[in-house]
Amino acid sequence: MINWKSRALEVQFKLEKLANYSEVNGALFRPTLSRSHMKALDQIQSWMEEVGLVVIKDHAGNLIGRLGSKRENAPTFLMGSHIDTVSNAGIYDGNLGIIAAISAVDLFGTSSSAIPFNIDVIAFSDEEGNRFPNTLTGSQAVAGTLNPNALTVSDSEGITRAEALTGFGCDPALACSSLYLDERPLGYLEIHIEQGPVLEREDLSVGIVTAINGARRFTVKVGGNAGHAGTVPMSMRSDALAASAEMLMAIESIAKSGPGMVATVGMLEVIPGARNVIPGQVKFSLDLRGENSGSIDTAQASIFSEINNIASTRQVQIEWNQDYKISPTFCDSSLGELLGESIRESGVMPFELTSGAGHDAVAIADLCPVAMLFVRCEKGISHHPSEAVKIDDIGKALEVTHYFLEKFGQTV
Ligand SMILES: [Zn+2]
Repeated sequence: MINWKSRALEVQFKLEKLANYSEVNGALFRPTLSRSHMKALDQIQSWMEEVGLVVIKDHAGNLIGRLGSKRENAPTFLMGSHIDTVSNAGIYDGNLGIIAAISAVDLFGTSSSAIPFNIDVIAFSDEEGNRFPNTLTGSQAVAGTLNPNALTVSDSEGITRAEALTGFGCDPALACSSLYLDERPLGYLEIHIEQGPVLEREDLSVGIVTAINGARRFTVKVGGNAGHAGTVPMSMRSDALAASAEMLMAIESIAKSGPGMVATVGMLEVIPGARNVIPGQVKFSLDLRGENSGSIDTAQASIFSEINNIASTRQVQIEWNQDYKISPTFCDSSLGELLGESIRESGVMPFELTSGAGHDAVAIADLCPVAMLFVRCEKGISHHPSEAVKIDDIGKALEVTHYFLEKFGQTV
């Protein structure tokens, strides 16, 4: 009889210990390729070695611990998540997926007599994008898709990624060469907190991710006429902020009418920004995400058509620019089915959901089939110190992962 609760408590203890490796006192901030990142990897390496994993660091700053099969030329299955954090982070985002994987692999290794495949647990180096302008470079390096241009970008102190890698003991010239190019891994499983409120609403410990939403980001500029707040009659105004307000309401209502669609205007700049001047210019951001490219296309078209209508009615000018685009990533349906059977075996109803946030699985999907197991977190709060996960939910994630590895082993 496996005591999932005591294993979960051990995971929780390690997560709390790991949170001490931070660039700031009293809060968790662990940017990629920093001193705290290095210390956290040293700690993880010793936990990996304690359970018999063979550990290497690649040249993109990823730490990889392997449970080796005794079979000759055995194929490899990947697990893991990211070790870097946002500033003022919670202790579970990313880190849970590494520590829980080590625990699950330890149990799988000791309870199975002959393991038909290797399992590599990876602590990915760069998922949050909190130091350099691009991100997912750790998982892209593993997938063999890292663009060498990613090495020339600089952080706020002018240190390039290549220099930071050198300081981290890596050789930047080898950063883009994946260790997995000769043998494509069998698949990848990432355990991650949901970072949203759906599992809590459904009263479920865990859920199966079917897709990671695509995202597009835009900057919209609205040009009106600045003027004296006291002298220009209402009928003669071209107020860029009032027009923008109407556009924001339209964006909200279009996103509400598209299933699985979310749109957010998170930044708004008003020029000149004075109490007694009619706003002459407004710049706002638009972040649009959805489950499939078609529905994002439709929402994008409706949004910009409505923005143009409002602009012509209100006689303001519109300019917009797309700053970023990433397509949706689909999780593998066979791995998802195995996760479903494993969840059922653990006594929970299998439940599918999509991920609104990006994950390392997005990059790894270019290398091999991917699966994600979401774990409920309190009120869906993440990227904040109040991020919280119940011990029983961590236990459930470990149990599901154990059954998953057993079932997957039978298919190899
Ligand atoms: Zn994360």
